[in-house]
Amino acid sequence: MSIAIHPSVDNGFAPGRDDFAGGTLVCRCASAPVKVKVSAQTLHNHACGCTKCWKPDGALFAVIAVVPRDKVEVVENGDKLAVVDAKATIQRHACKDCGVHMFGRIENTDHAFHGLDFVHTELSPDKGWSAPGFAAFVSSIIESGADPANMDAVRARLRELGLEPYDCLSPTLMDAMSTHAARKAGVLKA
Ligand SMILES: [Zn+2]
Ligand SMILES: [Zn+2]
Repeated sequence: MSIAIHPSVDNGFAPGRDDFAGGTLVCRCASAPVKVKVSAQTLHNHACGCTKCWKPDGALFAVIAVVPRDKVEVVENGDKLAVVDAKATIQRHACKDCGVHMFGRIENTDHAFHGLDFVHTELSPDKGWSAPGFAAFVSSIIESGADPANMDAVRARLRELGLEPYDCLSPTLMDAMSTHAARKAGVLKA
């Protein structure tokens, strides 16, 4: 049985385009969809197995990237957006009608990733977005109901797709968070 990681990666995926400058995310409503303009290429695109990121039906993982928050603008039907969980670190602004998460924003200015919004570029018809580079929070898919006995197969499939599996974030992002914490604590100067 093949493992459905996510529809945008299951059949392979193209690399991102260096000259790509963004596009528009569109929710899944048949009428009056929410549109969010993203005016930059995304960074750190990855598969995410956490329980909070929006996933399409049948997918084990979300695919999510970051982009500077000043490059994210709601351009149509923003009145349909609501924050899924106001207490969460990442405030996910979802369409109230179709449930799709249009962007996630960190309002805590002390957070290492403050200033970056989280977006699902599969919601855009534009081609050239950065390709996913790794898989985060892989073990967490069990918390959404995935069979623990299948985890070796899931990790093998992720590696086959070139998405190195990690059970937290990638080393690059974990280092960025620890560097931020060390600077705040004064352990690390400059
Ligand atoms: Zn919608
Ligand atoms: Zn996630």
